Amino acid sequence: MSTTETAIASAEAHSAHNYHPLPVVVASAEGAWMTDVEGRRYLDMLAGYSALNFGHGNRRLIEAAKAQLDRVTLTSRAFHHDRFADFCTQLAELCGMEMVLPMNTGAEAVETAVKTARKWGYRVKGVPDGMAKIIVASNNFHGRTTTIVSFSTDQEARTDFGPYTPGFEIVPYGDLTAMRAAMTDNTVAVLLEPIQGEAGVLVPPPGYLPRVRELTRERDVLFIADEIQSGLGRTGKTFACEHEGVVPDMYVLGKALGGGVVPVSAVVSSAAVLGVYRPGEHGSTFGGNPLACAVALEVIAMLRTGEFQQRAAELGDHLHQELGLLVGGGAVETVRGRGLWAGIDIAPGHGTGREISEKLMDRRVLVKDTHGSTIRIAPPLVISKEDLDWGLEQLREVLRG
Ligand code: PLP
Repeated sequence: MSTTETAIASAEAHSAHNYHPLPVVVASAEGAWMTDVEGRRYLDMLAGYSALNFGHGNRRLIEAAKAQLDRVTLTSRAFHHDRFADFCTQLAELCGMEMVLPMNTGAEAVETAVKTARKWGYRVKGVPDGMAKIIVASNNFHGRTTTIVSFSTDQEARTDFGPYTPGFEIVPYGDLTAMRAAMTDNTVAVLLEPIQGEAGVLVPPPGYLPRVRELTRERDVLFIADEIQSGLGRTGKTFACEHEGVVPDMYVLGKALGGGVVPVSAVVSSAAVLGVYRPGEHGSTFGGNPLACAVALEVIAMLRTGEFQQRAAELGDHLHQELGLLVGGGAVETVRGRGLWAGIDIAPGHGTGREISEKLMDRRVLVKDTHGSTIRIAPPLVISKEDLDWGLEQLREVLRG
C-alpha cells in the first residue's frame, strides 16, 4: 500500500466516519498550495471552508503566533491578559460595534448569539420567561450542536439527534412575507447567513437583507448576521452585509478570524445587547485566550488595509466572468456567488459534485462538493491570478469530460 492508502486506512479504522474526505493526505502547505505525503502539489480552492482566507502559512500570522507562544498562551478568563483589551477594542472597531464576546468555534459563537438574543429578549424587550422565539431560514447552516441542528432543515444533520431545542421558527430563505408572518411580540431575533455557504453559496434576492433590516427594526427584533463563512474579506468586502448596505445588530464571526492557525470566534454587537451579561452567566475556558487574540489581532490589522477585500473583489469578478461562460455549455446549470466564492451546480448526467471533485483532485485541484450536485470554489484570497486561471482551466477540462 502507498503512504496515502496506509494513512487513509488507519484513519478509517480509528476515526468516526462523520466526514467523507477526498483521498488526499496533506503534509504541508503554503499560500494557495498544499503538498501531500507523496510530494504531489495541489491548488487549494476550498481554503478550509474560508478559514484560510489569508493563505496557508501566512508569515504575519505565523510570526504573531510564534511570538505569542513564547510569552503566554492561556490564562482563562479568571485573569486579564495583555492582548485581550486590544483584541476586543480592535475587533469591535472593525465591525463598527461596541463589544465583543469571544469564543472558539463557529458553532459556539452561534450558540452565544442565540443565548444573547434570548437574554436580551427577557431583560430588555420584556418577552415573558421561556417564550422567546428566533426566526431562522430554510437551508441554513450554523453549526452542529444539538440546539443548532434543532433548527436545521438538512435531515442528515438532524436525524437521530433529537429531542430538539424549541424556540425556533423556520421560514424560506429570501421570503420576506413569510418572515413578517412568522414574527410575533415574542420574536427576539432573526438569525441569517447573508449568503448561505453550505447550502451552495446562495445569494438572497437583491433588497431582501435591507427589508429584513427594516422589519427587524420596526418590530424591535435583533438582526443577527452569521458571517462566519461570508465575512472577513471573502466576498470582496469585510462583511457580506455591506453589499446590501445593511448593518446588523450582531455579527457572528469565526473561521478566518483565526487565520486557519487557531480556532477563534466571536459575537460582536452593541453595549445595549452584549451588556446584558453578568459574571458567571456565560463563558469558555479558551475563548479570548492570548494566542487566539494575538493571531486575530494580526488578522484584523490585515483586514484594516482593505487589500484582501480588494483582491477578493477583483479576482472574484474575474472568477465569475469565467464561470459565467460555462453556464449553458451543457455541464453547468447555474453559478452563484460573490467575490472569491462560487457555487456551481453540475447539470444532471455530468457527474455528481463528488465525482467532479475527485476528477479535479486527479488534476491537482482541491474543491469540495455540497448537496449532491454542487461544488464550491473558495480559494485563499492570496491566490495569484495565474493560479486561479490554471485551476479554472482544470475545471473546464473536467467538465469537458
Ligand atoms: N456558521 C456558518 C455560516 C458556517 O459556515 C459554519 C461552518 O461551516 C458554522 C457556522 C460553524 O462553524 P464551526 O464549524 O467552526 O463550528
